[in-house]
Amino acid sequence: MAEMKAVVKTKREKGAELLTIPIPKPAPNEVLVKVKATSICGTDVHIYNWDGWAEGRIQNVPQTLGHEFSGEVVEVGSLVKRVKVGDFISSETHIPCGHCPQCLTGQMHICNELKILGVDINGCFAEYAVIPEIVCWKNDPSIPFEYASIQEPLGNAVYATLEGGGINGHSVAIFGDGPTGLFATGVARASGASEIFVIGKNKFKLQIAKKMGADHILHTDEVNVYEYIKEKTHGVGTDVVLEMSGAAVAIENAFKVVRRGGRYTAFGIPSRDVTLDYANGIIFKGINLIGITGRKMFQTWIEVRNFLSSKRLDVSPVITHKIPLEDYKKGFDILNSPESECGKIVLLNK
Ligand SMILES: [Zn+2]
Ligand SMILES: [Zn+2]
Repeated sequence: MAEMKAVVKTKREKGAELLTIPIPKPAPNEVLVKVKATSICGTDVHIYNWDGWAEGRIQNVPQTLGHEFSGEVVEVGSLVKRVKVGDFISSETHIPCGHCPQCLTGQMHICNELKILGVDINGCFAEYAVIPEIVCWKNDPSIPFEYASIQEPLGNAVYATLEGGGINGHSVAIFGDGPTGLFATGVARASGASEIFVIGKNKFKLQIAKKMGADHILHTDEVNVYEYIKEKTHGVGTDVVLEMSGAAVAIENAFKVVRRGGRYTAFGIPSRDVTLDYANGIIFKGINLIGITGRKMFQTWIEVRNFLSSKRLDVSPVITHKIPLEDYKKGFDILNSPESECGKIVLLNK
């Protein structure tokens, strides 16, 4: 039986193992992909480190890690129609059921029964992966493998930045210097934001934000974020706030920084309940509060493809590491190091 290498969570404890396992067979509604590039996400780090979230969330061990990838279709199930052998694909990582009220009304990204690749089913940190046809996304052949791999977090950034009236001509404060915040910076720049503030805690990542088009990078240890933005916006605040960190202090500042009548987009996930001044923060300011999860299927993917294929958006500053799949431990070590001097780490198959 043909075999492949895969990074597998084998025990309900920290770590993962590189194993040789059988190449999976696609079900009638699935395709088999030869993975070219796959990237490490915060979710993978949670699972690798086996924190409280992973302990409560992960059902199946052993399970192959990973959900972000690009690759070539090498086999299709008997019912697959839209995808063919040889197609260069990535995939939406949230697998919808196809029959709940949201799925039936164009909101598959908030399906009642979402399953997530590499979380609920075997993922793509491997030489091959099986992917349901419903989430396959055909890439523009001009897009490099490593860029095609990061479209999932890039899609979060595109959806968050453009949802709720766009960003053209608007000032924006982006809280969080992780990959999604950095991608959002580039999306805001490419989409005509007037002035971009990026707020973070990591000097290395804030320098990437600068390359992605931030006008102001604010290190939370060095500046009073609220006072700084207030001064630069003539006391008004920014038109748009993208909260992409989930940190309680950032959420509090973000509600203060958004101008009256502005847009507050919530994406970062707090690790515990947050308190906020509901009356003054939302109601009396008359803000639009937008929750973002996943990516719109497939409007966001079309937008992402167009940003990349037009080269209007250069994501290369965010992709800081390209290493072989076998060196996955090194990737997790970099992400877990206190300095965390990285953006996206892409794992490549030969
Ligand atoms: Zn991801
Ligand atoms: Zn559904």
